[in-house]
Amino acid sequence: MFRSSIATQIRTGALRQFTKLSTGPFPDHTFARTRAIQIRPYASYRRFNNSNASTNIYEYYLQLLTSRKALYIGGGLLGFYLINLHEAPFTHRLRFIWIPFWIETRIGDYSYRQIMSQYGSMILPHSNPLYGRISNIMNKLLATAIANNEDQTQKRHLKELHWEINIIQNDSLPPNAFILPNGKIFIFSSILPICENDDGLATVLSHELSHQLAQHSSEQLSSQPFYMVLSGVLYSLTGVSWFNDLLINGLFTMPASREMETEADHIGCEILAKSCFNPDQSIQFWERMGREEQRLSKQMGGGGAANSVLGQWFSTHPATTKRIHDIENWLPKLREMRESSGCYEYGRFHDFSANYFKRQ
Ligand SMILES: [Zn+2]
Repeated sequence: MFRSSIATQIRTGALRQFTKLSTGPFPDHTFARTRAIQIRPYASYRRFNNSNASTNIYEYYLQLLTSRKALYIGGGLLGFYLINLHEAPFTHRLRFIWIPFWIETRIGDYSYRQIMSQYGSMILPHSNPLYGRISNIMNKLLATAIANNEDQTQKRHLKELHWEINIIQNDSLPPNAFILPNGKIFIFSSILPICENDDGLATVLSHELSHQLAQHSSEQLSSQPFYMVLSGVLYSLTGVSWFNDLLINGLFTMPASREMETEADHIGCEILAKSCFNPDQSIQFWERMGREEQRLSKQMGGGGAANSVLGQWFSTHPATTKRIHDIENWLPKLREMRESSGCYEYGRFHDFSANYFKRQ
């Protein structure tokens, strides 16, 4: 929508420029071109005081867009975009990622230090039997994720990561769990009663693992420079920043984030089913999670707005009812996957003998 409005603005600017060139005191096109190129976007804050400034910005962009330099830069960027398109595992969705695994790991290390400085004192001692139970589940999920991954570089990367589980013991924190790109897993104790059983735990862990497999944080980070440039261009044209941020969030960031959530649900459910956990139990987990969300929302005076259409549009997470609906649709295929994984055959679990938490 905003693209066409920019186009209209550029066209309007072009029209004004054309009129000025044909009637103004300087009919020399070369002179007008030089003058227009010299104008810089930072002058746009005077837009409301000086109408010529906005016209000049449009002229500047028009000159830039029609210049040979723009063609070279555009071609280079398109080439860079195309060579950095990678397929997501399991769903095979094409997405733009230019951040290599080693940078991803460093970002994970940085976040790890920050989280540890905040929650380090609340970590449940590693002698607690819960760690054994959770690492058993994670080992199965990781074995399936690695065995079914066609990307050899990522396969190697996942095997080499220093996997670690940390349970944050504080029931007053909202239910949550996440996996950092360096293989550090954090589980808040408040989510454990909602998980209820191993299948519930596997639902949460496989979802979080899928965010890592699909490199969702790198995908978001890869698009940031594009959003920054777009925001700068829009600011120079309109002189308003909050509207541009809302526009970019509403049109790009939030829909991408919701798409990633759905993808993580999809990949997670497949990994879970292939690891012999019960996909039917995922629905029950999300129903319990939905009730907890509503309880927390009422506590905060929100009245369950997260499930409204408006709430979903402005939220980065899909509504729980949508998640449940999606999983219900995938269920027949997921049940088939579990059946064909030989879960009931004697000795099947020897495939899951790998231990990724030896170094913990
Ligand atoms: Zn998620």
